[in-house]
Formats: sequence, C-alpha cells, structure tokens
Amino acid sequence: MRALRRIFTHLLTAVLTAAITSLYWYGTYGRGSGGARAEPGPELVEKAVATAEGPVEVSLGPTGLAIPVSGIRPNQLVDTYKQARAGGARVHDAIDIMAPHGTPVIAAAPGRVEKLFFSKGGGGITAYVRSDDGKWIYYYAHLQDYAPGLKEGQKVERGSPIGRVGATGNANPDGPHLHFAIHRMVSGEDWHEGTAINPYPLLAGKR
Ligand SMILES: [Zn+2]
Repeated sequence: MRALRRIFTHLLTAVLTAAITSLYWYGTYGRGSGGARAEPGPELVEKAVATAEGPVEVSLGPTGLAIPVSGIRPNQLVDTYKQARAGGARVHDAIDIMAPHGTPVIAAAPGRVEKLFFSKGGGGITAYVRSDDGKWIYYYAHLQDYAPGLKEGQKVERGSPIGRVGATGNANPDGPHLHFAIHRMVSGEDWHEGTAINPYPLLAGKR
C-alpha cells in the first residue's frame, strides 16, 4: 500500500512538472506574433523553398521577418546599423549581411516592389519594396542583379526572390553583401524617404 502511494506521488510529480514546463514554454514563446521577444527561440523556422534559380533556404527572425539572404541564420548577423560611413558624418542606418556573390536575396516581408533603382555611387542595383499597409519600405542594395522578371508594381511574398548578392555601387568587390534597411514611412512619403529603424534586433532577436 505504501509502495503504491509512493508510485502515485512520483506520477503526480511528473505530470505536474510536465504541465508547468509546457505552461512556461507557452508563456515564453506561445503567444504568436504579438510581442517581439528579445531572444531567438524555438519559433525560428527554417525552410527550403525550390525556386527557378535553385533551392532557397529561408530563416525567420523572432518577429516573423525572413533573413533576406538565403542560408543565413540569425546568429550569423552582425549589428552594423550604427557603423560610421566615410567621413564619419553619416551613420549606416542599415545592416550589411555578408554572403558570397550570387547568393539569393529574398523578400524579408510581403509587399509590392515600388522602385527598382540604380545608384552608381551608392546602393548600386537596388530594390525598394513597400509593405501592403504602406507603412514600411524594405530596401535591398548592392545586388548583382534582379530576380528574373522582377518589376515595379509586382507583389512579393515573404521569401520571394528579389535578386542576388553582389557588390554594385560603392560596395567593396572583395566583400559582397546585402545592404538591408527598413524605413518607417508616414503617409505621402516617397520611396526614397522615410525614417530608418534598426533591422538587426528584428532579424536576430538581440540588441
Ligand atoms: Zn551597408
């Protein structure tokens, strides 16, 4: 009888522990897209998508944005947002995601291609994609080229191909990378306007 009771107590403890553990995980990660968590957790999703240009590996940051370079994980990102630029007067206002020439660049979030722009002394081959609610511009620069058929006005989904990593514009040819920026837009602002916010914590989940 005493042995039975002991077994019962052990069982009860095990069940309670399991319940408390799942409650903890639910509380920490189970609330969907509502709150941006500070650290990456099990909500990171990696998926391989077959495209005409070959497989693309998409990783999601904790806020649901896709890391805009195929195969790059959140923990590989470096916060270069406040890096000083030439002359020191300007700051970067973007992050550079290093990757070999030709690595697929994909849309971090859904939206519409608003402007495809070439800036010889700046971003080189660039794409500006505005979110469906109009409040955000996602900016992709130094591309080697655009994804086949990409055009202004085109709708893109999260993970849709934008182009390939390159070093066009003022990037160092020996350090190909995607220059990625997020601009908060107020009503009436044009594609080249807006106010930059730091993409790093949104993609990497760290400050
Ligand atoms: Zn940059």
